[in-house]
Amino acid sequence: MQTHNLGYPRIGSQRELKKSCENYWAGKITRQELFHKGNEIKLANWTLQKESGIDLIPSNDFSYYDQVLDMAFSVGVIPERYHSVIFDKNNSEIDLYFAMARGYQANGLDIKAMEMTKWFDTNYHYIVPEFKKNQEFKLFSSKIVQEFAEAKLAGFKTKPVILGPVSFLLLGKEKEEGFERIDLLRNLLPVYFQIIDKLIEHGVEWIQFDEPFLAMDLSAKEKEAFQSVYSQIRKRYPHLKTMVASYFGGLLDNLSIATSLPICCLHVDLVRCPDQLEDLLVNKPANLSISLGVVDGRNIWKNDYKKSLTLIQKALEKVDSEKLFIAPSCSMLHSPCDLDSEVKLDEGIKSWLSFAKQKLAEVADLKQLAELGDVERLIGEGAIQSELLSAYQENQKAVSDRASSGLIHKSEVKERLGNVKESDFERTSVFQDRKTKQSELLKLPLYPTTTIGSFPQTKDIRKVRADFKNGRISEQEYEQFIKDETERTIRIQEEIGLDVLVHGEFERNDMVEYFGERLHGFAFTQFGWVQSYGSRCVKPPIIYGDVYRSEPMTVFWSKFAQSLTKKFVKGMLTGPVTILQWSFVRDDQPRSITCNQIALAIRDEVIDLEKGDIRIIQIDEPALREGLPIRKKDWEEYLGWAINAFKLSASGVDDNTQIHTHMCYSEFNDIIGHIANLDADVITIECSRSQMELLDAFADFKYPNEIGPGVYDIHAPRVPSSTEIIELLQKATDVIPAEQIWVNPDCGLKTRQWEETHKSLVEMVLAAKAMREIK
Ligand code: GLN
Ligand code: ZN
Repeated sequence: MQTHNLGYPRIGSQRELKKSCENYWAGKITRQELFHKGNEIKLANWTLQKESGIDLIPSNDFSYYDQVLDMAFSVGVIPERYHSVIFDKNNSEIDLYFAMARGYQANGLDIKAMEMTKWFDTNYHYIVPEFKKNQEFKLFSSKIVQEFAEAKLAGFKTKPVILGPVSFLLLGKEKEEGFERIDLLRNLLPVYFQIIDKLIEHGVEWIQFDEPFLAMDLSAKEKEAFQSVYSQIRKRYPHLKTMVASYFGGLLDNLSIATSLPICCLHVDLVRCPDQLEDLLVNKPANLSISLGVVDGRNIWKNDYKKSLTLIQKALEKVDSEKLFIAPSCSMLHSPCDLDSEVKLDEGIKSWLSFAKQKLAEVADLKQLAELGDVERLIGEGAIQSELLSAYQENQKAVSDRASSGLIHKSEVKERLGNVKESDFERTSVFQDRKTKQSELLKLPLYPTTTIGSFPQTKDIRKVRADFKNGRISEQEYEQFIKDETERTIRIQEEIGLDVLVHGEFERNDMVEYFGERLHGFAFTQFGWVQSYGSRCVKPPIIYGDVYRSEPMTVFWSKFAQSLTKKFVKGMLTGPVTILQWSFVRDDQPRSITCNQIALAIRDEVIDLEKGDIRIIQIDEPALREGLPIRKKDWEEYLGWAINAFKLSASGVDDNTQIHTHMCYSEFNDIIGHIANLDADVITIECSRSQMELLDAFADFKYPNEIGPGVYDIHAPRVPSSTEIIELLQKATDVIPAEQIWVNPDCGLKTRQWEETHKSLVEMVLAAKAMREIK
């Protein structure tokens, strides 16, 4: 048996790469200094993996921005608009690369960045390759080969990780009509051959081709493409050791395709889909090696050795050990780096966790333990004492501690969830009746205006928050500062003439963290950073235990804001699905249960806000759509519990309390029925960049409740004119009755400056007033 790894985090355990990249972009360090840091990180990662007992260490898993962009760059998929970047003789390859990732504004050029989107169902974002009809491919960057050579020079014979040609094409987008990108394989493959040729010249033995699409729904043509690509690679390189990696799900209906590929080794994700092992063992040809992805590359829990060994032993019954690899389920890109850095975590909780560095040791332990045979028997007999067996016992102790820990398991929470009634998921009356009562109470004009919640989080605010956290100012001083900001924001909104106000969310660092810090069952790390995109990292909270709320979390600030004005102030909450989706979640119970526990906590908050005389409450669910499973067959199940969790959080209030929700990136065509099932009184969505086209789904569906289609883009400082907003609102009114329409920006304003925020909202209110006149 051999151990291998599919990829290691590249940001550095203290986010060194982030800092170096940002310094380079700011012109504070040179190219050489940036590369020096990159090389340092690569070397540290290779060394660590080797010392941890990984036999086949990856290379080319490092990236200065994104591995998909790297691949596009390697095969010369560089949209024309960037070509001029290289004409400046001060620029080099890496500047062109960063221009594609981040846009380019210098030397009279103003080029937008390439589009970015989510990497399957993770929170990592990749740069979307753009393909033209007659797309040419050519060997452009030699990164893949360079990194292999660099590692070799340092004494590591690595396994280059290359995004497979099929997945590379499928991840991209056609930028012209009249072709399918999968048909570009014919032109693309020769460049892959050139890369492989060079790798072979340098003495490569194994290459890992990442083909995550093997775990997705595929068309017949796409299935054929897999067969064709890997047959050609085999034909040309009969002696090359090829590994194809699937992850993030089971092979399922693609199993026969995957096992019939003429490759040396197939990697499967046994964390997401342990059940596929059985089928795989029955169907695999005798000469195909299998890589067992048993250590979760995407979560932070200690592996359960007993469980993993059961899978490995099952494989060993059918497969020669030299044809087996032990590995994490996917690249560890999605794990934080090193648990050892966490000195503030509760020791109990810490003993259940494992970050990337610790996962390497797990992979190595598992191989050695599997080679020992029946570990439990050996321990029972007490025949041998070894560090390895102690590691096993320690692991099992952590697993059993976690299963019964009083820190995690709260009978009141489980009982309460068990007693939830069907009626708890529904509002008292149907929407039309609620609407009547709400209009009587709220007396809002036609085209009511509002914002999504946050107002500019200026440098000052972040500084004061940091000062408070570090004890430089007192709680009282901090609170006074936030109060002043809130009051100022209320006055500004009144002056602008908005109808429904918000408090501005100045007390919040982050829309999930803020709630996590106030709920039981959440833990926070100091350095648990995971790359989100480019130099951006997120530090998701860890949901380790049963979730409950012991006291109100937001009522103080909402009531304070409401006390300042006669207008209605919306209470602002983050919804259960989004809190779940943006955290590391428990793997010892279904996500749906964790989500419902959060929902009950939010429900309590909603009810308390209502008691505090807050008449409008918004429950944000921007992550609802991104939670959709990667296989369509699993959508219904997910939507079933996710929608219900939202409803559970929202339905504890009287008819005349108005519930809003908000979602960004709102492509709703395929789930509009479920969105309607949320039964929020008002939904605000991001709509301006699509010129209201996203509203069509709502119109076609005859969406019954109220909608606030965003009327201007908040991602850029640009101030919209009232004329263009009126145009958008007219467009909206063409498809949705005016009585249902709200007027608001696309999303929260926290990333904007005050100046443009103020001007934009003035234009927005002008537009709404004009619309009322027209009516
Ligand atoms: N209420 C949040 C805000 O305004 C919503 C953020 C979001 O949709 N991502 O910042
Ligand atoms: Zn939003």
